[in-house]
Amino acid sequence: MEPRAIKVKQDLATQNAAFDNHQEIVFLDAPDVGLHAIIAIHDTALGPALGGTRMYPYASRSEALSDVLRLSSGMTLKNAIAGVPYGGGKATIIGNPKTDKTPELLQRYAQFINHFNGRFITGEDVGIRVPDADIIAQTTPHIRGTSKSHTGDPSPFTALGVYEGIRAAVEHKYCGLGVHGLIISIQGLGAVGMELAKLLHNAGAQLIVSDIRDDILIEAQARFGAKIISPDQAHAADADIFAPCALGGGLADDKIPEIRARIVAGSANNQLRRSNDGAVLQSYGILYAPDYVINAGGVISIAHDKPGFDPIALNKHICAIGTTLRQIFRSSERTGKPTSNIADEMARSHLNVSGKQGCAA
Ligand code: NAD
Repeated sequence: MEPRAIKVKQDLATQNAAFDNHQEIVFLDAPDVGLHAIIAIHDTALGPALGGTRMYPYASRSEALSDVLRLSSGMTLKNAIAGVPYGGGKATIIGNPKTDKTPELLQRYAQFINHFNGRFITGEDVGIRVPDADIIAQTTPHIRGTSKSHTGDPSPFTALGVYEGIRAAVEHKYCGLGVHGLIISIQGLGAVGMELAKLLHNAGAQLIVSDIRDDILIEAQARFGAKIISPDQAHAADADIFAPCALGGGLADDKIPEIRARIVAGSANNQLRRSNDGAVLQSYGILYAPDYVINAGGVISIAHDKPGFDPIALNKHICAIGTTLRQIFRSSERTGKPTSNIADEMARSHLNVSGKQGCAA
């Protein structure tokens, strides 16, 4: 069945504080299957917009709009700095993934994606996992991270990139060579957080974990000997590193003074609530690994998922996240600017150079 409605509400979107000159914002409504979603394309200078689809029980459409706009802008910077030939985009589906997600809803969403004719390519995010990508792939080719792809779920690759980023931060901040013996507080033990916990545990780190789900906390306790802390105390744990791996917006000026770790490095998108929170972290002597730099392992895996797939080249590309972060940390030290500002400058310079050269996927 053809989708019933595509409504472009550009006026509503341009009034949003997170608008950031998006190229295209489309509201998708198919009430017969309970689908209410937004696809945002921020920038296609480097190629088609690539960004995951998040399904979340947003309290309102305007909350879903603000989230998709912030996430989509972040994807432009992430894809540029990661050196992948994609622009930035993202989608949010309003609904509870546990109770509202049906094959009919996903298939109708996939029909909408087809209307973009390849200008928007999507994959997993919070609330959308590999089995969902497989259902979407029955209707559209513009989905990545399916079970039939070379790389599959991007989350373990994201976790590997975060792990490399943490090692780079430890080297810079503590002059250490690894995480052995360090205490790391992980907030959110989902697809990325649990895999990161495994990598850190295998490398000899001690873990403090928090989540809103008891079952996965018990699993982490049994597998890694992790100590459990309540989610609202994760940032204030007595740890060397705080790794936010749940939802974004956790690093606000009321929380930053309570952070005891001297490194913040995790997978969550949009960790800083306001743009100057990077400077606030710096003023407290906290080394911040900019979110869209450290969590790019997933999009890197997607960029390598093509004929002639080379797992060694993929591994090297993900490990280069550590190299990029080392450059950012050194540049921040040299210039006195927050790491978040340095990352933005680097990403924008990649965008200007590669965009002018007409880089395309
Ligand atoms: P996920 O949904 O699998 O995991 C999120 C986890 O956070 C869940 O276990 C959830 O119960 C928990 N959580 C929710 N609210 C919490 C709170 N207040 N305190 C503690 N825990 C809470 O999602 P994921 O794929 O692991 O992604 C985690 C974060 O990393 C998201 O911000 C996502 O956008 C970002 N990210 C993910 C990928 C990827 O490849 N999956 C790539 C880049 C960025």
